[in-house]
Amino acid sequence: MADSVNQEQSFRIGAESSPTNSVRRVVVTGASSGIGAQTATRLAADGWSVVALARREDRLKAVADAIKADGGACEYKVCDVTDEESTDRVVSEIVAEGPVKALVNCAGAAFGKDPVATARLEDWRGMYELNVLGTLRIIQKLLPTLKQSEGTVLIVSSTAGIEPYEGGSGYCASKFAERVMARVLRLEQVGEPIRIIDVSPGLVQTEEFSLKRFGGDHSKADSVYEGVPDPLHADDIAESIRWALDLPDTVDVDSIVIRPRAEGSYTKLHREG
Ligand code: NDP
Repeated sequence: MADSVNQEQSFRIGAESSPTNSVRRVVVTGASSGIGAQTATRLAADGWSVVALARREDRLKAVADAIKADGGACEYKVCDVTDEESTDRVVSEIVAEGPVKALVNCAGAAFGKDPVATARLEDWRGMYELNVLGTLRIIQKLLPTLKQSEGTVLIVSSTAGIEPYEGGSGYCASKFAERVMARVLRLEQVGEPIRIIDVSPGLVQTEEFSLKRFGGDHSKADSVYEGVPDPLHADDIAESIRWALDLPDTVDVDSIVIRPRAEGSYTKLHREG
């Protein structure tokens, strides 16, 4: 009995003192607004050292400055995940600066809400480039260093990747693809020191998501959340991400589906008034 206790203690001590297992450095894409910005903030408050990525430098700087003012650690790098050269350069810098324990993919968008019959090819192309290929690109480039740290790939996909809805074809297709990417990567990496986690949110009220979807039309964007009591906010998703990342390396939360209480499905949304 005493021997087994000692063995367990030495295992724990060994694990804690391992230079890779103690790394708490996370790369968050899409960190200049919404879910990504809140995730960066919450993880930094939880002791993670954050590398925040997005295209808008002023927004990234504001997020990083706020985190640092609260005593957290955050650096930022301008990165367009749809651009091979930009992503290559940024990942090289990140890897040269030290090990990475987790990648949280928040960069993503919906463009348009047109029926299949009339949807714009440009909108579909934009969503595929960003949501699907952008996510694939950054995962591929960071996977080797993440595995060296017994790390985690986390993809923020969507309930749009579980249940399609009218007008959502292009976005849903890209989010189905992201969820499939997570599932297949998980199968392919079984036995390897890496966790793959999918987080699929329902309706989250963020400042820019719907506005971008409707090309800057505020009234269309506002109507998405109209009368919905307590839609989710970015920090609700950030907290679920923090929880999943903070579980032991050997515990892999395959998928978190998180919706506001008022949402049964995309088409079953309770609105008041
Ligand atoms: P936001 O529009 O607030 O955030 C999107 C982020 O992606 C921004 O930081 C943006 O920064 C970044 N981004 C866009 N294009 C690129 C690019 N080419 N390269 C790098 N970064 C890019 O949206 P949310 O926070 O609401 O959404 C975040 C994720 O969550 C998305 O994948 C979305 O599909 C998903 N989601 C959102 C839901 C919602 O209801 N809001 C529900 C379910 C899922 P910048 O423009 O500075 O590059």
